[in-house]
Parts: sequence; C-alpha cells; structure tokens
Amino acid sequence: MRERPRILVVDDRAANRELLEAILEEEGFCPILACSGKEGLRLAIQDPPDVILLDVAMPEMDGFDVCRHLQRNLETALTPVIFVTARADDTESVCHGLALGASDYITKPFDPDELVARVRAALRLKEENDRLRLLALTDPLTGLGNRRATSGQINSRLSRWRRRQEPFALLMADIDHFKRINDTYGHEAGDQVLTSLSDLLLDVARTEDSVGRIGGEEFVILLDHAHRETAVQVAERLRERVAQLSIPWKGGTPLTITLSIGVISSDDLAPAIRQRGVLRCADDALYRAKEGGRNRVVYYTELAPEQIDRPAPCPTAAS
Ligand code: GH3
Ligand code: MG
Ligand code: MG
Repeated sequence: MRERPRILVVDDRAANRELLEAILEEEGFCPILACSGKEGLRLAIQDPPDVILLDVAMPEMDGFDVCRHLQRNLETALTPVIFVTARADDTESVCHGLALGASDYITKPFDPDELVARVRAALRLKEENDRLRLLALTDPLTGLGNRRATSGQINSRLSRWRRRQEPFALLMADIDHFKRINDTYGHEAGDQVLTSLSDLLLDVARTEDSVGRIGGEEFVILLDHAHRETAVQVAERLRERVAQLSIPWKGGTPLTITLSIGVISSDDLAPAIRQRGVLRCADDALYRAKEGGRNRVVYYTELAPEQIDRPAPCPTAAS
C-alpha cells in the first residue's frame, strides 16, 4: 500500500463529498472525489484506490450498480467498498449492498470517529488481500511471478494488443538437461542454477518487460513493444549470455547451463491464437528448439499439423 492510503469517495452531493474529504484529510488519508457513479467507476478502474466510500442513492448509476461493476473487474474486485447510506432503517438495502460484495456500510449522518475506524478496518482487509494475492502470484524460490501471474500478464498484453495494437513478444525458455544438474550435484545445486538464471533474466529484461517462472525450469519473458526481429535478437542474446554464465558451486567447478528458447510475437498472433493460444505456440517452438539439438532459439511460424501433434509433455514440478 502507498504511503497515504487513497480513499475514493463517490457521492453526488457536494456537501457530502466535502465533509468526507475534510475528515479523511485530517486523518492523513488521500481522498479522491467522484461526483457520480460513472466517474467513480472510471477513477477506480484507472488507478484502483485502497478503499471506496460509496453513496447508495445517486442518479443514473447508483451505488449498487457501481459495486456490481467493481466486482466484475479483476483490478478492483478485491478493493473494500463501504456503502454510505441514508437509509438507516432500510435493512433490505444494507443486506443487498453486503450481498453485492461490499465489506461494510455506514449510515448518514455518521460519527466521524466511527467512519475513520471503519475505513481503517477496511484498509487492514485490503493489506491482507494484497499480501495473499502477492503470495498466490509469486514463485517462492526465485521471487518471480509464477504461472498464474504470467497467465494474467499474457492476458493483459493480449487485450492491449487487441484494443490498441500494441505489439509484444513472448520468449519461453527451458534449461537443457536440467535433470542432470540435480542428478549430478543435488537438488540444492539445481536450485542455485534456477536463482542465478532468474537474476540473469531480470538483468536482460527491461523494466517494462515481465519475467516469470511457469514450471520447474521453464521461464517466460514478455517483451513490451517488441516485434519479431527484436524478440529473436533478445532471445539470441539471452541464449549466449546463459551459455557463458558460470555459476559458483561449493568451491568446485562452476556449473554451466544452456537454454532452448521458443519465441512468438504479436506479429504472428492472429492465426496462432485461433489455433492454439500464445503459450502453447511458444511451447511448440520450444519443442522444435529441443528437437533441433537444444541451446538454440526457434521462432514460432505456422506449423504443419503433423509438427504440432506430439505427445503431451511430462508434468513438471510447477511452482
Ligand atoms: P530437456 O533438455 O529436455 O528440457 O531436459 P530436462 O532434464 O531439462 O527436463 P526434464 O523435464 O526431464 O527435467 C526437469 C527437471 O527439473 C526434473 C525436476 O526434478 C527438476 N526440477 C523441477 N523443479 C525444480 C526445482 O524447483 N528445483 C530443482 N532443483 N529441480 C527442479
Ligand atoms: Mg529442461
Ligand atoms: Mg521442462
């Protein structure tokens, strides 16, 4: 959570907004004001706040509608919503709000201390949600995003590509004969290789790119604004750097590895997606890199069906 928790206030009445703003500012929070349900929703999705104080009765889009939309959006579904309702006697609407996913409600006129206490409780909930979310998305060994996080990142790249034609590329890298490292030097050495490789991948990636570990010794790098040629160049550079990498191990001979890399870019996405989906296409290219002798980069191109049909890979110890 940022230093000053951001509290979005959605209320159609200026007097209510100003009162809430003053109380929240006094407490050191950062209030963000929206004068309609629509504006509130737009602000919430654009830059999700930490807590939302939501008026129920508003023209056009009421608080219940806003809440429904927030729940459907992945970015805001876990943001605590506190309904601020004038209908103290209306148990039905309170129950309705809570059933829609609000975490709490407060009735007008409210006591400022109680309001602040409820906001603080909601912030604790938000912090806990953030912590669990991070745990669910992180690979504990390397600290990289795991398969679930990577799928989410791929989906957001895909939707940006569909909406705004922003190009991107995906590299799927797999360590060659990794099992031998474990068999020869032990599992601990294998883990050391995985963390050293993860450091190198982060070093090669630019800040806007994402790196994830999607399986035992399988990594994905998502390159933003990259076309086919750039993606292959980056993959080739990565492959060379990995081949030169020497990983210190218990004072003995340093460990060395090579990578096979499958590459796909949005330049070739339309047919690829229809056929199999991005990750599987990259995996097809990776498979060909393995078949071709390993320690190489293969760019995905339309493959003939007989090249695609192959036995399902053995399950890896997914992180
Ligand atoms: P290939 O070149 O075909 O990719 O061969 P490979 O040996 O790299 O692939 P294979 O799938 O046969 O073996 C992967 C190994 O990775 C087996 C598994 O025990 C090991 N592994 C998976 N997760 C971890 C981990 O977290 N730590 C360690 N040390 N090893 C792991
Ligand atoms: Mg491997
Ligand atoms: Mg593998």
